[in-house]
Amino acid sequence: MKVFKTIDSIQNYLSINDKNKSLGFVPTMGALHKGHLSIVNKAKNENSIVIVSIFINPTQFNNTDDLNKYPITLENDLKMLETEHCDIVFVPSVNEIYSKSIKSDDFDFDGLDKVMEGEFREGHFDGVGTIVKKLFEIIQPDYAYFGEKDFQQLQIIRKMVEKNNLPVKIIGCEIYREDDGLAMSSRNTRLSAKQRNEAPLIYKTLLKAVKLFPEKDIDFVKNMVKKVFETNDTLVLEYIEIADIETLNPALIKNKDNKYRAFIAVFAGEIRLIDNVDLN
Ligand code: AMP
Repeated sequence: MKVFKTIDSIQNYLSINDKNKSLGFVPTMGALHKGHLSIVNKAKNENSIVIVSIFINPTQFNNTDDLNKYPITLENDLKMLETEHCDIVFVPSVNEIYSKSIKSDDFDFDGLDKVMEGEFREGHFDGVGTIVKKLFEIIQPDYAYFGEKDFQQLQIIRKMVEKNNLPVKIIGCEIYREDDGLAMSSRNTRLSAKQRNEAPLIYKTLLKAVKLFPEKDIDFVKNMVKKVFETNDTLVLEYIEIADIETLNPALIKNKDNKYRAFIAVFAGEIRLIDNVDLN
């Protein structure tokens, strides 16, 4: 497994590689867990060469405390990637990526960025678009893999690729969960024992929503979720939304031709956890 820290070194290496070999790319912010590895594994099965990037992107953090406390476990990440037979890891510094200024570009995502995560994390998706576009330009992958854990991000990346005619295919990957249903996340390691104990309630409640959705109207389902968290003193609901999977517009009534997902954000103390489920 090769590890590169600079744009020049990875591009030099890639330039001598066979252009007919398909290149699969998995961008991450490190603190890897089995959810990330499941994506690497999928990319490995579908490509000749797999590149993982590890870069904590400052411009997508709307909260400096969250950025400063983001877990860094590089040595362990590299070991895990080696075990997963990853071919190349790209670990650039902030200066390497943002040589001029640590700023986002402005994107037009046709409103996909105005709801849910976009509403509660100002500037987040411009930061995501900025780093993913830069990484695509550096690596020029054939396929890029993103988790449905961040479903809104996945749809936004698809939009960015479509609008900019970028020559890469975006592949969505299923959410990987702990045995108790909690969606794996690098932030889970920051949970206290009590918070970790309560956190599976998030997915449990989403599963209740899946069950109710065919029979009940949208408000009823959302109110059920709100009530569950009103009576829990460890987890604080930030939002529950039921949205069309294409436009991400919050749905008011169900249309049988559309597909929907439920999206949730919950605080455990200062740690913010997100999850989502398919409602069809
Ligand atoms: P992150 O390091 O959190 O930026 O995540 C890197 C990629 O892994 C993103 O495409 C995430 O959506 C994806 N990811 C994170 N957690 C999971 C999970 N539990 N299951 C599937 N994909 C995930």
